[in-house]
Amino acid sequence: MMEEKDFSAIAEEKKELIDQSFRDSVATISKQGNRNYIFPKKPKGKLYNFRTITSVFYLIIFFTLPFIKVEGEPLFLFNVLQRKFIFFGKIFWPQDFFIFAIGLLTFIVFIILFTVVFGRVFCGWACPQTIFMEMVFRKIEYLLDGDYNKQRRLKAMPWTAYKIRKRLIKITVFYFVSFIIANFFLAYIIGMDEVLAMVREGVDANIGTFISLLGFTTVFFFVYYWFREQVCIVVCPYGRLQGVLLDKKSIVVAYDYVRGEPRGKIKKEKEGKWDTGDCVDCTACVRVCPTGIDIRNGTQLECVNCTACIDACDDIMDKVNRPRGLIRFASEENIAQKKKTRFTFRIGAYSFALILLVGALAAMLITREDVDARILRSSGQMFQSLPDGRVANLYNLKLTNKTRKDIPVSLKLENIKGEIEVISKDLTVPKESYFQTSFIIKINRQLIEKRKTPITLGIYQADKKIKTLTVTFLGPGY
Ligand code: SF4
Ligand code: SF4
Repeated sequence: MMEEKDFSAIAEEKKELIDQSFRDSVATISKQGNRNYIFPKKPKGKLYNFRTITSVFYLIIFFTLPFIKVEGEPLFLFNVLQRKFIFFGKIFWPQDFFIFAIGLLTFIVFIILFTVVFGRVFCGWACPQTIFMEMVFRKIEYLLDGDYNKQRRLKAMPWTAYKIRKRLIKITVFYFVSFIIANFFLAYIIGMDEVLAMVREGVDANIGTFISLLGFTTVFFFVYYWFREQVCIVVCPYGRLQGVLLDKKSIVVAYDYVRGEPRGKIKKEKEGKWDTGDCVDCTACVRVCPTGIDIRNGTQLECVNCTACIDACDDIMDKVNRPRGLIRFASEENIAQKKKTRFTFRIGAYSFALILLVGALAAMLITREDVDARILRSSGQMFQSLPDGRVANLYNLKLTNKTRKDIPVSLKLENIKGEIEVISKDLTVPKESYFQTSFIIKINRQLIEKRKTPITLGIYQADKKIKTLTVTFLGPGY
């Protein structure tokens, strides 16, 4: 405990060495209030390579999924217009909304719990915005315009033929890639077959869709050409939530100020005046940051945990012969109190809650019925006494078939003897569709002892019961 106190005191002292003037400005806004365009240095290093490999897999999955089909239907489809949704080949209907709601809730809780424990790693490694920005468009930019210093020079130079040519090439390439991405997003909405059919039919036959597609392309282009990191800083609510989600135990990309401060140029060390920490104040970590921040100022909402600064600093540490990890994945507790990250009760409790939620969702998905049935009494109808002494009730039946094949069904009375007369002769529910009909239940008057008798109905596909429903049968009563 004593030791912990000492560490905390040292950490506080070190923290005080950090110049706090950074709080007066935002990296992406100039003193005049204009947009400060960020030109991050091309990152290199182990983590960047790993991120590139991860992104390649991610992009392969993104561009391949729309082509994968299960029984002739896409593996994933989010057709909001036709209210048709397919996840992992399973069709979901508006009636399955509660599964969607639980799925959404699970996703939100997952993100929150994951963030509390592991910080904002999702942003840098899995968010489509970052993947497309850093791993597609930024790489193209480095290829076309060179590294950050060349890009900066190009921006500052007057509009010569060279600059116009460079800009035209970049705009064309960015717009083309945005167009491809927009097409794939469209494929996730209406299906790849539809998209390919539209391509074959040509623009004239699909002018409305084409205009929407150009609209989306323009939005993507605007985001990746100009708006960029502003999406994460200004638009994305997740970034803004960091302040409430993170605590001292959260693992984030962090600068070890205890080790690094007071920062100082390596020159001092050579001159024998070395009384500084491990940070040589080279600003390599700032130069690679795609959001323009200095991670040495602590965790900031702009940080997307892309880890570029870790690579940059490790490279410097190698050069100055100091241990790597001055910037690393660590919690405030790791740094200030030199505590190792342990599997704590909190992590366990959060993980348990997550497992429960994911389990509930999986159970719902597995036990989801292929046929959904609703029975309602015909409005305004009481009961009818038949000449043969039986009592009849009329009902409306609505069946939804969520599968890709037609399902012939039959109805049976489960808890009482009687007859079911279905108005429609053929009780086959067409695939991916609804079916509506009426039916009459006829029961001997002797068996109806009460005014309201609960009747259990079984819906069968061949001999297999697929659904059980209870309806109220009205009778004269005694
Ligand atoms: S501070 Fe580091 S991890 Fe955060 S966005 Fe900048 S480079 Fe990426
Ligand atoms: S890269 Fe490392 S050494 Fe250089 S300024 Fe950043 S933290 Fe300090």
